[in-house]
Amino acid sequence: MTTRTDPLAFLDLELEELRSRNLYRPLRVMSSEQGPEIDLDGRHVVNLSSNDYLGLTHHPRMKEAALRAVREFGAGSGAVRTIVGTMSLHEELEAELARFKETPAVLTFQSGFTANTGVIPVVAGEADLIVSDALNHASIIDGMRLSRAPRVIYPHKDVAALRELLREAREKGRQDAGHEGEPYRLILVVTDGVFSMDGDIAPLPGIVEAAEAYDAAVFVDDAHASGVLGRNGRGSVDHFRLHGRVAIQVGTLSKAVGALGGYVAGSRALREILIQRARPFLFSTSHPPAVAAACLEAIRIFQEEPELIERLWTNTRRFKGELTRLGFDTGVSETPITPVILGDSGLTIRFSDRLFEEGIFGTSVVYPTVALDKARIRTIVSAAHTDAHLDAALAAFDRVGRELGVIAG
Ligand SMILES: *Cc1c(COP(=O)(O)O)cnc(C)c1O
Repeated sequence: MTTRTDPLAFLDLELEELRSRNLYRPLRVMSSEQGPEIDLDGRHVVNLSSNDYLGLTHHPRMKEAALRAVREFGAGSGAVRTIVGTMSLHEELEAELARFKETPAVLTFQSGFTANTGVIPVVAGEADLIVSDALNHASIIDGMRLSRAPRVIYPHKDVAALRELLREAREKGRQDAGHEGEPYRLILVVTDGVFSMDGDIAPLPGIVEAAEAYDAAVFVDDAHASGVLGRNGRGSVDHFRLHGRVAIQVGTLSKAVGALGGYVAGSRALREILIQRARPFLFSTSHPPAVAAACLEAIRIFQEEPELIERLWTNTRRFKGELTRLGFDTGVSETPITPVILGDSGLTIRFSDRLFEEGIFGTSVVYPTVALDKARIRTIVSAAHTDAHLDAALAAFDRVGRELGVIAG
């Protein structure tokens, strides 16, 4: 017998490399429900890190809706949507979402991630061009890769640069071998509605005008805007009153909606072609009934309990204002995502660990998720935080910030 070497031994080296560069992400384990106070790794802490903007993950109406659906429809859907996995609940959810978003049609996906990797390759291919913001979400990047469409990146939120790229693309046409100079079939401008790391809002009116000037279509991923911006949380298109001028809106059901899933809102033809072609839709099982029912309930709660969104924004203004007053750099955020930018990744990890000891969970975000010198604690307050939660969090930021020399005093 010869001794065999482990063919996967290189994985250990890769892990060692991540650890030595402070880029290793440990999995923290929660032994309570999601919420403003959680039990995490054996410690009871105030939680500033979930995407549960409105506290719907644990809202009594959400739990009740999920339980009712389990009793009536069971635990799983048992098939992909196109075989025998489309339940009345899935169709009701899509109809409710379409009404809510004020678009002709909606199709749901298993997650926001699969919505993006599903829709982009269906609408864009080799004869098209995708023009994408430099800070778009990883799922958009993967969707673009899968599409095999040529793509150009414009500097973050730079509408003038976007216009210039569009002008050039229309003037020069396709660049691929055998098709040089032919007009692109579609030019698709793709942007997050709210950027997930800095909490800033895309300049949608400018993007839409630029796109219209060059016959391009606009695609907005509103994962962090749903439930946050616009009337009753209808998102960034509603916030800027751009109804009918954004061809494709993607949303998630995993953040403010509080359950799991993604959706694409647009024309009836878009929904139809996605049913025929979108690979995650065709080849992966549909949501369990409890998930679809909870999502449906969430969209009703958005409309029937507007005080949740008001509370979210009151908490946001207070928390952001106090952090700034204490002397922290909170970047360019305009939404409940408030980064506390510390710069160095080692310092940021130490800061997050110290906050944890003080009973506050604020996750550290380091390279490559953000630039090497822009490491940060990323905070998100929710409608479920009380003044006492925010006071405790601010006091801990103040103590740890002074202790580590980030703020004066
Ligand atoms: C979170 C997020 C997604 C992924 O949504 P999931 O439902 O969690 O898969 C997609 N796009 C953006 C911009 C996001 O922030």
